[in-house]
Amino acid sequence: MGQRFRVGQGYDIHRLQAGGRLVLGGVTVSEELSPIAHSDGDVVIHALVDALLGAIGQGDIGDHFPPSDPTLKNADSKRFLNHAMDLIRREGFRVVNADLTVLAERPKLGAFKKQIVRNLQALIGASVNLKAGTNEGCDAVGQGQAIAAQAIVLLVGEG
Ligand code: MG
Repeated sequence: MGQRFRVGQGYDIHRLQAGGRLVLGGVTVSEELSPIAHSDGDVVIHALVDALLGAIGQGDIGDHFPPSDPTLKNADSKRFLNHAMDLIRREGFRVVNADLTVLAERPKLGAFKKQIVRNLQALIGASVNLKAGTNEGCDAVGQGQAIAAQAIVLLVGEG
């Protein structure tokens, strides 16, 4: 039997507000800004989870964790990621690599990239690349009113 491959992509955006805490890839990157979100609003993990779910044909993060669920208020997004990884393993796959882009005018993310990558690599057991950019002043992200992330993953079947 040949190797089985799956690819998936994900996207997420959250509006930003003054005050609170901003977590990206499980790492606190600001204590002056926070996402407007039901969970902890970690856009990097949300995009990654959607990519992983997409790769195994399991819908999106909202199908698995409805925003209407009161028990998910301020939920740690690592819980969503661990759930997606459980499904992937159950389907007989592992992650080959993940490539992520986060777009934010603020805060500046350069100093946090390595820590986010290390954190995510440990959570998904695979190589992670993170690109951080601004939106060049365009739209809500470029005006610092929102933060967005994109993810693409490759999975391979285990035997
Ligand atoms: Mg989200």
